[in-house]
Amino acid sequence: FCPVGAITENMNIRRVLEEIEKHDKVLIVQTAPATRVALGEEFGMEVGSISTGKMVAALRRLGFDYVFDTNFAADLTIMEEGSEFLERVKKGGPFPMFTSCCPAWINLAEKLYPQFLKNLSSAKSPHQMLGALLKSYFAKKINVPPEKIFVVSIMPCTAKKDDITRPQHMVNGVPAVDVVLTTRELGRLIKMRKIPYASLPEENYDDPLGESTGAAAIFGVTGGVMEAALRTAYELGLGKPLPKIEFTNVRGLDGIKEATIDFDGKQLKVAVAHGGVNVRRLLDKITKGEVYYDFVEIMACPGGCIGGGGQPKSLDKDVLVKRMEAIYTIDERSVLRKSHENPSIKKLYEEFLEHPLSHVSHELLHTTYMDRSKKKVAQVAKV
Ligand code: SF4
Repeated sequence: FCPVGAITENMNIRRVLEEIEKHDKVLIVQTAPATRVALGEEFGMEVGSISTGKMVAALRRLGFDYVFDTNFAADLTIMEEGSEFLERVKKGGPFPMFTSCCPAWINLAEKLYPQFLKNLSSAKSPHQMLGALLKSYFAKKINVPPEKIFVVSIMPCTAKKDDITRPQHMVNGVPAVDVVLTTRELGRLIKMRKIPYASLPEENYDDPLGESTGAAAIFGVTGGVMEAALRTAYELGLGKPLPKIEFTNVRGLDGIKEATIDFDGKQLKVAVAHGGVNVRRLLDKITKGEVYYDFVEIMACPGGCIGGGGQPKSLDKDVLVKRMEAIYTIDERSVLRKSHENPSIKKLYEEFLEHPLSHVSHELLHTTYMDRSKKKVAQVAKV
């Protein structure tokens, strides 16, 4: 990669433009939770503006055949990851269970903290889950072979450009996601095509992979994956409604947040860390046995994905706070706020996946990790 990311970004834009020009494949795009509260900044909108519908409209005008929402797959991630957590509670571990949707964290674990690989949730990140479904379930639905589908993920994240090259993420012999464009790159592409972003109408995502809940929206901010998982794990595990939907102890921009959750008499200890220094500090404490947790969320970027390396650069010192508030506004305005209540997710399980952690789910939605630490590499070299 170019040290400033510019060469990689330009090459990715060119690849997408070539596919749009050729248009000999079904062109599908998906957008991550944090993109919708930041893309507007590229077009002079106020920091923290929510421009979901304009982003969808712009992607259609760029030439994509389907515009789907990564938030749909965030709800699916919660179904799988929440069920995995409940299974560990039944079996007695291994704890802590770590979230797995941040590829920069996965790289860090494989290279520097291999002792935690068994603790990582095996759930793929949401955009990989959606890519896998597009090249299997959806390919069948529209009667197109997977190699004739081109999937672009719009992400706040530069690490996801590397994530799509992992061999574990191949589906039916092809990569689940073909190209990742950052929020900034999408902004550049829209400007290149002279699409008047600010005056576009608000449009909706396509069906059936576009419906999502407020729980999926909060994936974009530190503490959001934990909160979404707790909303679902509590109700699915205990079979009763949550007394309060917001888990405020895991919200906010403090580097490390902790909470104890009453899980029908069992006290669950959870922690959330974001930003390199905080993440390393928390992991080192867990390694030394100074702290104990049942469930830990790790996000490499400050603030989580709202502060991702692919987001628009801002001079506003409150940029993270404003984007975070926008994310929680989307959650509050949502009719459904728990992943297990998403009707499209229920239908997907009925039609195709059967149930969380089923054989099909494992095949398409879960992944494996590799020990890439120096010690392991040295051992392999010796052999
Ligand atoms: Fe990517 Fe940063 Fe989000 Fe991790 S926290 S998924 S590196 S944008």
